[in-house]
Amino acid sequence: MTDNHYDFLMVGGGLTTATAVREMAGSRQPGSIGILAEENDPPYDRQPLSKDFLLGDMEREAVFLLTEETSREHGIGLHLGNPVRQLDPDAHTVTTADGSRFTYGKLLIASGCHLRRLSIPGSDLPGLFYLRTLSQSEALRAAAIEAKQAVVIGGGFIGLEVASALAQLGLDVSVIHRADRLADRFGNEEISAFFDELFAGHEVHIVYEDEAANLFGEGRVEGVETKSGRIMPCDLAVAGIGVQPDTAYLQDSGLALDNGVVVNKRLEASAKDIYAAGDIANFFDTIYSRRRRVEHRDNAISQGKLAAHNLAGAAEAFHHVSYFYSNVFGLTYECLGDMTDFDEVVTRGSFELKSASALYLKDGVLQAAFLLGRPYEERKVFEELIAGHEHMDAVLARLSS
Ligand code: NAP
Repeated sequence: MTDNHYDFLMVGGGLTTATAVREMAGSRQPGSIGILAEENDPPYDRQPLSKDFLLGDMEREAVFLLTEETSREHGIGLHLGNPVRQLDPDAHTVTTADGSRFTYGKLLIASGCHLRRLSIPGSDLPGLFYLRTLSQSEALRAAAIEAKQAVVIGGGFIGLEVASALAQLGLDVSVIHRADRLADRFGNEEISAFFDELFAGHEVHIVYEDEAANLFGEGRVEGVETKSGRIMPCDLAVAGIGVQPDTAYLQDSGLALDNGVVVNKRLEASAKDIYAAGDIANFFDTIYSRRRRVEHRDNAISQGKLAAHNLAGAAEAFHHVSYFYSNVFGLTYECLGDMTDFDEVVTRGSFELKSASALYLKDGVLQAAFLLGRPYEERKVFEELIAGHEHMDAVLARLSS
């Protein structure tokens, strides 16, 4: 048993923590900083793992956000491969998997999400890959170099980015997707048609309205059978079926939990001196006046920064239009705001020319926007228009000015 104290203790070794720590180090925040991470690798950026890194266009060293050397130089206690198992908010103490106890002045919970795994027959066979960690991306890349055929299970963000990368690596790729069209979460037929055609144009075969029922093979995955009885031979399968907030270790802490750690607009959890940020934070979004949990990179960065300020004594409210982008087959699309509550979508520009946008409205007020091949300035304008709850007439006037 070791006893360690940090003035600022970060649970989780991902982008949110790395951002918060860099922000604190940059502002020369007095006080000791510690990081308790589950993985053995120092904090790295997941974003390239399904894109450039998987394609082999990025060196391993380039993904790291905070190295062991930099941590040492800044006096940051980086504890790798030692996830937290218990939190006692009254005693300001956490206990890690190896039985170590750490006390804190202020705590940031940024342990993110865990992968959802397939639990169908054959899902324990080698040759089924997931993609969330650096080592998983490395393993998939190594297998892809040897493979000819791949089946991707799940047509969400990971599924489509991985399908795009594997196709670009020369594999014959099929995707099993539950909905009847791609990008169904964007709730717009034009956007879906664009993605359906884009993937078909790159000879990725999409199996719609179906699900993986079992994986089969002698000693490793040789194919996937779907619920409708389709047999899909492959050399490897990848499942991208979502993630869930990693709150199991907080169950006995007394913290308010509900689809993540419940925090207020200042990212404060329900116990004194504890904050949560990033994928795990169920926060009050002041743009929409409703609770949300956002599993995207920009959220980790913007909340990581704000958490750093508040840990250091500020009381800033998180007021930010959520944002993410994705890249498939070299094309970048961007989304601003919350696309879950709208009654009308107005599209502009040309999807055929890969320069278009979609405006999500409710009662005529702009809620969110989808942008394809649009300039950075337009994204910033949309950000302002969404934050300002602008009506469609004002939006169109601003866009045409
Ligand atoms: P995701 O985007 O939530 O997509 C999961 C997909 O898997 C959905 O299409 C879902 O279908 C499907 N699915 C769920 N359970 C399934 C099952 N049992 N069988 C077949 N399909 C199933 O999650 P993800 O793609 O795994 O990505 C993981 C996380 O990384 C997410 O938080 C995502 O936001 C993040 N990420 C973000 C980016 C980006 O911002 N560019 C890129 C990669 C990953 P239903 O919709 O029918 O449930």
